[in-house]
Amino acid sequence: MKLDLTGRTALVTGASRGIGRAIATTLAGAGAAVIVNYREHSAAAAETVAAISAAGGQASAVQADVSQAAEVERLLKTTLATYGQLDILVNNAGLTRDTLILRMKDEDFDQVLNTNLRSVFLCTRAALRPMGKQRSGRIINLASVIGLIGNAGQANYAAAKAGIIGFTRATAREMASRGITVNAVAPGFIETEMTGTLGEATRKAILESIPLARFGHPAEVAGLVCFLASDAAAYITGQTFTIDGGMVML
Ligand code: NAP
Repeated sequence: MKLDLTGRTALVTGASRGIGRAIATTLAGAGAAVIVNYREHSAAAAETVAAISAAGGQASAVQADVSQAAEVERLLKTTLATYGQLDILVNNAGLTRDTLILRMKDEDFDQVLNTNLRSVFLCTRAALRPMGKQRSGRIINLASVIGLIGNAGQANYAAAKAGIIGFTRATAREMASRGITVNAVAPGFIETEMTGTLGEATRKAILESIPLARFGHPAEVAGLVCFLASDAAAYITGQTFTIDGGMVML
């Protein structure tokens, strides 16, 4: 099956690196014009845009901290000014601040909740205006298997990712009558900078819990996101898809 997104516009948050970069390049490869959002790493975002352009695609980088309402408003304004419409929103930006709950500072909790969950609320609310007018749209939220099964040392991250799953279900119900679908993708352990800091012993223990016995690649997550953004997924909404080498089987 060839997924064709020609004529569509996509906004991918946190697309300077890792999974977001793979999603941006995959959507662009399928024909979408892509806004590559990032917060800090402008050179990395420029590399994402350059890779898309080199492959014959269309992309533009926009800096914005998606945990801040005013910055999200600016991001959406720039997206619409650049491409005139918004068909696909991928809420991918995220970070971790892992520590055991007794040592978790208020800032550790707030920063993870604001970046991973509040950003999804802010970007979704802003995107619903153009998508509602168009009476069509696709929203895909990056959750995590940690939001389903929990993990010691990640109470903040697990709460944010479980929140995304509930938010996905509520917005899917609210937006269905306007032709907008909302789904979540819950990756297991994927090879990115986020998992690059894991120690050897932790990595080994994780690998033993994965039936396919390897970490995933960003491109594998991007393929699922691209499918959910396409016409082939028109009858799917409110769902959370794990992509984790079989780690979590519910
Ligand atoms: P990553 O390599 O650490 O990249 C994170 C991206 O998010 C970067 O592009 C970063 O931009 C951006 N970002 C962070 N805070 C931001 C903010 N406030 N505003 C805008 N952009 C922001 O992470 P990843 O591993 O690719 O993860 C991507 C998503 O998948 C996250 O939501 C993560 O929770 C989820 N996930 C990852 C895994 C995994 O194993 N890697 C598993 C499950 C779920 P700058 O660098 O430019 O600041």
